[in-house]
Amino acid sequence: MKAAPLTDDLRTLYQEVILDHGKQPRNFRVVEHHTCKAQGNNPMCGDRITVTARVSARGVLDDLAFEGKGCAICIASASMMSEALTGQSTATAHKLFEAVHDLCTGKIDTDQAKAAVTPDLSDNIDKLASLSGVRQFPVRVKCATLPWHALLSCLDGKTQTTTEK
Ligand code: ZN
Repeated sequence: MKAAPLTDDLRTLYQEVILDHGKQPRNFRVVEHHTCKAQGNNPMCGDRITVTARVSARGVLDDLAFEGKGCAICIASASMMSEALTGQSTATAHKLFEAVHDLCTGKIDTDQAKAAVTPDLSDNIDKLASLSGVRQFPVRVKCATLPWHALLSCLDGKTQTTTEK
């Protein structure tokens, strides 16, 4: 089968949610008094973002933000990540990372992703599911998951992550 032209691919990918978050990203800033900071780099696309977070002594993400440059998918994913995880525990962050990663690689569907996280994140999964259109495009999967890898590096005390390992 012949591959569809890029414009068609993009039309499928750039759904409303992605456009909204890509154009008007939430929490596009640096967290004041952040407790961790990590840069994510996706040279395949040119995405380069920095995630900052302030984690409380109880292990809650009191604030989470990002800044940098990236394609609409990367920025939208980072924006939705910051919305979903502000006020959540680092344990929840790890769980949601797994769910989003598996959604974007096509391992699980939206319902399975919802079952994998706490019920209060169901609405977030609905939005994040818009990223699952990237599953046919390996390069785009990296765009969508980069912010999440950066967040995990941040929480693990690392300062950098790259999609090229
Ligand atoms: Zn990208």
